[in-house]
Amino acid sequence: MGVIDLIARRAASILRVRPCGLCSDFDGTLSRIVPSANQARIEPSIRDVLESLTGQIDVIAIITGRSIDDVRRRVGLDGLVYIGNHGLERWEHGVYQVDPDALDWVPRIQKIAEELASRFSSPAVEVELKALSLSVHFRRTDDPAAVEQQLLGALEPLAKQHRLRLTRGRMVIELRPPIDRNKGTALADLIERRGLRAVVFLGDDRTDVDAMQMLASLRAAGRIEAMSIGVRSDEAPSELVEVADALVDGVEGVAALLEHLRRLL
Ligand SMILES: [Mg+2]
Repeated sequence: MGVIDLIARRAASILRVRPCGLCSDFDGTLSRIVPSANQARIEPSIRDVLESLTGQIDVIAIITGRSIDDVRRRVGLDGLVYIGNHGLERWEHGVYQVDPDALDWVPRIQKIAEELASRFSSPAVEVELKALSLSVHFRRTDDPAAVEQQLLGALEPLAKQHRLRLTRGRMVIELRPPIDRNKGTALADLIERRGLRAVVFLGDDRTDVDAMQMLASLRAAGRIEAMSIGVRSDEAPSELVEVADALVDGVEGVAALLEHLRRLL
């Protein structure tokens, strides 16, 4: 039996505990990493599996740093729960909800995004305004490490000045409102709201570690059955590899795992 088989069997045994949730990050997990964040699309085979699992798993949720509008457009399945901007907004059963405190930050974040876009006008640096937060992508640069240092030099003082939270991911730096939300609190909130007793979570980056640690602590407290699956890549942060209960190789690994899971459930 292959490693994917074993992981799928373990995940299936967890998802037989009801109510259950299958929760996943988007970029680098369900969609391949592409030069520009705007080109990302869900892997078609993954979309098919998620669609067919919708009736069998109580909650299928996408938890992402992208905005809800953006990720819903890229996934295109209405039966899912979408949690965007690292938990500041969500879409569930056709109803959109946003953290009211986050709204206060929209004008300021927009202004900073405009300022950054004019300051870093090179096509290699992409400033993405996500309404409630902003991302600066630098995947298309020849020397990402040097550009990251340069960007941090500009973004750290801005974050400090405006009391924004700065986070780093795979070839991206984000500025978010100083609200105590992350993928971990977003996942805990979903578990609570939907009364979930079992969760399988998938992710590939630093911000996903918060969700994995949250699951580990809920599991240790005997609250839920849980499994965290990390997506291995050249850019996978060491914390992710340490915290994940299992690892699969790239988006292809996720696709293979979900396909096995569909057959098992
Ligand atoms: Mg990701």
